[in-house]
Amino acid sequence: MFRPGNDPLGQRAMTSYAGFEQGPIRPPSEAKSLLLRVSRNCPWNRCAFCPVYKGERFSRRPVEHVLRDVDAVRAAADALLEVRERLGGVPFSEFQRIAYAAGADRRAVHAAHHFLQAGGSSVFLQDANALMARPRDLAAVLERLRRAFPSVERVTTYARARTVERIPHEELARLAEAGLGRVHVGMESGSDAVLAMVDKGVDQDGHVAAGIKIKRAGLELSEYVMPGLGGRALSGEHARETSAALRRIDPDFIRIRTLALPEGAPLTERWKAGRFDKMGERETAAELLTMLESLRGVAGRVASDHVLNLLPEVEGELPRDRERLTAPLRRFLALEAPERVLYQIGKRCGVMQTLADLNDPELRGRAEQLVRELGATPESADAVSDRLMRGFI
Ligand code: SF4
Repeated sequence: MFRPGNDPLGQRAMTSYAGFEQGPIRPPSEAKSLLLRVSRNCPWNRCAFCPVYKGERFSRRPVEHVLRDVDAVRAAADALLEVRERLGGVPFSEFQRIAYAAGADRRAVHAAHHFLQAGGSSVFLQDANALMARPRDLAAVLERLRRAFPSVERVTTYARARTVERIPHEELARLAEAGLGRVHVGMESGSDAVLAMVDKGVDQDGHVAAGIKIKRAGLELSEYVMPGLGGRALSGEHARETSAALRRIDPDFIRIRTLALPEGAPLTERWKAGRFDKMGERETAAELLTMLESLRGVAGRVASDHVLNLLPEVEGELPRDRERLTAPLRRFLALEAPERVLYQIGKRCGVMQTLADLNDPELRGRAEQLVRELGATPESADAVSDRLMRGFI
């Protein structure tokens, strides 16, 4: 039970409402969703690979503020829909008129416009761990959403495994009944050694307990895994134990998000100091193949929808598509070095999207030019990839 005196994380900042808010990130699968900020930043904020909220303080937003955000988006959506009905669309001049009208909440108008254009069917609760909100408050938000936007079919959120472990089953089940549909958990690895090395704050057993609990509550579970996170030293264990953890959990979705080393992440500093041995693209692909090949008894969907992934075609339903979704990894590993460099640089520069693009003469020509311009060779291509990937984050 929340009381002002038991608020170690400054959870309910006693600030006045300053308008509609959005946080910095969402899962790639929520690109079309309305982003609704329930809490700000990350209450853990220690993962060594993650720069997103470093230096920022976690706080819960007062539930009244979140409810006002829902109302603000509803009001903006009504104004936009009126124009759409009258004119058959929303010209820029009309959008500007609504967004800059006296008393308008411009950020809410932008959010409503994006939401309506994308179909108005999904909502993502931000930031890094919306389940830190009191279940009663979250239920109120879900209820307000349902009444304001009956078209919404899916509401999802991120959550830490440790947070899920602390929520009673009945509360989670109530959230599922209230309309929360899916929880995304950043598992990253099933290896206790890797999890400790990156200060994830949870071990494999913790991930398994939380994952099973989410599913038992009637919620869909999406587990993020991070190829490359163990570095060269822990690659084998990372693949083996991540697969083991996923077999124990059997999540609805396994989402791949390849390691990159952006500025601001403690792991990047370790790498620069020579204390983390990052693998190249070929070794990372081999690690992912080992992990996927040993996923027996798992019936979820493998998704490779993150911009940092080398091979977006590693997608499919398990167990039915096991061969199809692992085939691109085998094909990439079998490429001769110059072809591998060509695809690697083509993909990291956004010229190529899948291995099939190697057969397109025009795309090959553009990728060849980039290889020349960047001076990429079989020896230097991984360093070039690392540099290009840092630009994505
Ligand atoms: S829990 Fe998520 S948001 Fe928080 S530091 Fe770790 S990876 Fe980053």
